[in-house]
Order: sequence, then structure tokens, then C-alpha cells
Amino acid sequence: MSKRKMRFDTKVIHAGQPTPRIEGAVNVPIFQSSTFEYKGQKNYDDLVYVRLNNTPSHKSVSNKIAELEGADRALVTSSGMSAITTTLLHFLKAGDHIIAHKNLYGGTAHFMQHGLPSYGIDVDFIDARDAKDWEEKIKPNTKVIYVETMTNPLVEVLELDKIVEFANKNNLISIIDNTFASPVIFCPIQFGFDISLHSATKYLNGHSDLAAGAIIGSSNHIKEISSTLNHLGGSLDPNTCYLLDRGIKTLSVRMERQCNNALKIANFLNSHSKIEHINYPGLPSDSNHERAKKFLCGFGAMLSFIIKGTEETANEFIDRLEIPVHTWSLGGVESLIVRPAQTTHSNFSNEELKKAGIDRRLIRYSVGIESINDLIEDFKNAIDG
Ligand code: PLP
Repeated sequence: MSKRKMRFDTKVIHAGQPTPRIEGAVNVPIFQSSTFEYKGQKNYDDLVYVRLNNTPSHKSVSNKIAELEGADRALVTSSGMSAITTTLLHFLKAGDHIIAHKNLYGGTAHFMQHGLPSYGIDVDFIDARDAKDWEEKIKPNTKVIYVETMTNPLVEVLELDKIVEFANKNNLISIIDNTFASPVIFCPIQFGFDISLHSATKYLNGHSDLAAGAIIGSSNHIKEISSTLNHLGGSLDPNTCYLLDRGIKTLSVRMERQCNNALKIANFLNSHSKIEHINYPGLPSDSNHERAKKFLCGFGAMLSFIIKGTEETANEFIDRLEIPVHTWSLGGVESLIVRPAQTTHSNFSNEELKKAGIDRRLIRYSVGIESINDLIEDFKNAIDG
């Protein structure tokens, strides 16, 4: 069977495998060697060295990720933030300007607000759910538009088609963080984005046991970005390449279960009298529902909500839960719960939180693959106290 014709669920297992298999090994062995013999290599692409991200361990997992998103090429990096900062610093130089959606993962938003300006790069934020003020924000030096497929932590789905159209019209590089969606739900490059980024620490790996990132795009873009990555040095170690490849093999089955669980939990919360507000694009009442149906192949497994009461009420609810782990990552097989104002967005001032639309009481929930009956019973007990 030609690998080109493989469906997604088959690709997560088999794509990226070297042919023939190395010594017949079913899994790509871990190439735990920082450097490889000189055999007449001509350039940095040929020279095999771990920081250049080109050992067989790197190549197989990168090729798999590229195939999953239907792109020419991908790079793996030492973390999601490494993928994000390397890509931004590649496309932006002192004197340039970037526009970005106003509600992003806290680390990205903080780097944009405080890191980029320190390199002489200007940032403006837009509401990427509404195209009306985008034109006003464009300057002659605007180079990049940056968004997330489903935003962290409000799970907003943006005007993805208009963003691509706007980027093309204004000659901007369009960059999207596809972490929350994963390629099961959205393939940015096929949709028209220039670059797709991942914190592979999350859904791609799915087991909360490593840090990794991915940068995906056309051969030309990735060739150029790889040179920046080689200089900045955010390479993934070969053992983690192996673990990431292994994690990706269960991406489809994990996501299917997680999305189903998330919809059931969202329905439960939506009908509970103690819930003040819930963000989940799978709910017909959610303001992102129509866009999610239009652009995505699923509604994801992240949701956020506010319980009537105070920050203390939210903390007490989290403390009473027995199943979800109280921690700030997401996308693992285990349910994970967190209050962003206290953790992922704790370096935001109250004013910055308000601007981003994040209530201090907001709880973010990354739904795992546990029994849905157990998860809902746990929620019932914790809400009703
Ligand atoms: N992008 C999103 C949407 C995230 O949620 C995170 C981390 O939570 C990152 C990027 C950063 O990823 P990492 O922690 O792997 O550096």
C-alpha cells in the first residue's frame, strides 16, 4: 500500500518510518549519539549531529508529524516555547511589527508583550474572531499574524479563513499554534496557514512525560527556520524523539475518547445551576460553535468554566475533586485541572487578565480518557460539596 494513500489513523502508526526498517526493527531505534562519522557530507543538512536535528531519531518523528498535518516538512524542538520563540525570532527582526490574537497561551503572550519589544519588535493585539479592526492595525513594517486554533484558556475558535485571506492580501506570514486542536481536528498548512506550531508536550505526545515542540510548513520555510533553530540550539534529544513517536501512535484513539468525554462533561456543566459560564465550542450555545463546525473536525477536549462564587469557591471545588490532577499542563491521558489566573497566567497583571477576557475565577479542564461516569460523578460530588 502506498504510504501516500494512508488514512490519518494509519499514518499515526506508520508514517515517517524509514524504508527499509532499520535492521528490521518495528520501532525506530533511539540513535543516542551526539555525532556521526564524517562520510563526505557537504553541508549542515548532510552532516549528522544532534543539535542539527538530523539524526534518524529526529527525521522519523519529524516526517511523521509533517505527514499528519499534510505538510512538506516539520522540525521537532526541545519544547513548545522553543518552537514558538524560534519561529518568531526567525521571521521578525528589529524594526518589524507583528499582530496577534489578544487571548493566547500565557507564555506566548508574555513573550510577545515583554520579550519581542526588548528586541525592537512591535506587537499589537487584535480580536481574531472579528475582522473589523484588523486593517487599522496593519503598518508598513507588519510581517506576521499569529493566532491559536483553539485559544488557551478560553477555547475560542477564530475566523480562520479570514485570517489566511488577510495574511495573503497583506503579504504577512501566518503562524498558528495548533496545540489544542492537534492534526486530528485541524491541519493548518492544508487550510492555507504558512506555519503550524505545537507544544508536542501536550496532545501529540499525550502522556505528560516529556517536553517537545514542532514547527511545520513548506520545505522552503522549514529549511530556513532549521538554520535559526540550529543556531538557537533548541534541539530535541533522541530519547525524547523516540518517546514522542511512541506517544503519537495513539493520538487518534486518545483524541476520540477525550473529545467524547469533553462533550459529555460540557453538557453536564452547562445544565448545572451552580455553573455561571462555560466555554466549550461543542455546545450549540457557545459563541464559537458555528466557527468550530465550519473549520474543525471536532470540538477538542479542553474546556473552561466559572463556578458561581469567588476565587475561594473555585479553589475549594478543585481541592474536592479526586480524579483530575491539579496541575498546569494539558493534553495528557489523565484529566488535568487548573485555575489559569493562579498558574499559566500568573504573570499577568489584573488589567492584562481583564484585557484577555480571563476571569480570575476561571477553571481550565483538560479532559482525559478516564471513565466518563467516574469523571461526572467526581464533578457532581465536588460541585455539590
Ligand atoms: N502553546 C500552547 C497552546 C500551550 O498551552 C503551551 C503550554 O502550555 C505552549 C504552547 C508551550 O509549550 P511547552 O510547555 O511545551 O513549552
